Amino acid sequence: MSLITEFYRMGTDPLSDDGAMSRAAAIIREGGLVGMPTETVYGLAASALDERAAEKVYAAKGRPSDNPLIVHVAYPEEAEEIAYTSDLFYALAKRFMPGPLTVILPKKSTVPAGVTGGLDTVAVRCPAHPVAHELIRRSGVPIAAPSANRSGSPSPTTAEHVLRDMDGRIEMILDGGPCEIGLESTVIRLTEDGCEILRPGAVTEFMLAEVAGSVSVAKAVIDPALAGDKPLSPGMKYKHYSPNADVVLVDGDDARFADYVRAHITDAEAVASADSSADHFNFCNRLSCGKTANADEASRALFSILREADDRGYTRLYIQLPPAEGRYLALYNRLIRAAGGRIVHIK
Ligand code: AMP
Ligand code: MG
Repeated sequence: MSLITEFYRMGTDPLSDDGAMSRAAAIIREGGLVGMPTETVYGLAASALDERAAEKVYAAKGRPSDNPLIVHVAYPEEAEEIAYTSDLFYALAKRFMPGPLTVILPKKSTVPAGVTGGLDTVAVRCPAHPVAHELIRRSGVPIAAPSANRSGSPSPTTAEHVLRDMDGRIEMILDGGPCEIGLESTVIRLTEDGCEILRPGAVTEFMLAEVAGSVSVAKAVIDPALAGDKPLSPGMKYKHYSPNADVVLVDGDDARFADYVRAHITDAEAVASADSSADHFNFCNRLSCGKTANADEASRALFSILREADDRGYTRLYIQLPPAEGRYLALYNRLIRAAGGRIVHIK
């Protein structure tokens, strides 16, 4: 069935777009789907208490139904409606919510099995973006929202990306401009003495350690081949973020990276680099990952660049491998998935 997708450009304050917000909230309450901006990436929002709405989410994305959805609440206390919380959850919430942190908790029976891929846990997040916050509040239900891309393609960081993937498949898209962070939330599970990072994001290991005591990083974060058939987080095992272009990750310093690109690149291919290093690549096609080389700008740009490489028909995209640590860990994790695990090491 094909729908007419309403596209609505929001102002800076969602409260001043009263009509659009009410309409979007009504769509959610009636079991429909809305593309909504968050500070991480755009989400495909549906009522988390409605199994049929969850089915529509999986169908619109073309997503395997054993890969569970993150449930979004307007305030951390609203997690009580869907999950069994703990002191550690509230300690984390006090520091990181609203924000880009998702916590896996034991689920209550209010959440249908279709939302959590049959798991007895539920992933809970409290987004900071004012439009997402207002949509959850007005809908009056927790909102299940995976990234609003077709399964396998890069997550959307603009409303235009959502429109490309979801036009005719969902009722409405709220355009809140480009996403501030650009990579999906940090996903953690709570352990006896702290927590484990299942998916790295803008809330880093170091930041979590200030609140959670012992923090570990799941092996599959660094090496997707280690996820196995029954991973802690089902999303770990799926191919992700892959553009049609071949992503070639080059592990070497700035000079070696530039040399490698010069030796290999063709007219049908492109390099991704910060504008500050544009001079090194004036002989080839280049996509910009921000003004200067830093984790925040590169994270914000990554998914847009992967889509742009395809729009321009490049067959291959050369990217310098960032360190697998700190603010760069999330970027590293998305890049090795986009590259299918292949890395060129030049030492
Ligand atoms: P996305 O919806 O695209 O942001 O992806 C959500 C991620 O959270 C996926 O990698 C899921 O596998 C993971 N996730 C969601 N719910 C759970 C859960 N209950 N247990 C473990 N991982 C989860
Ligand atoms: Mg996703």
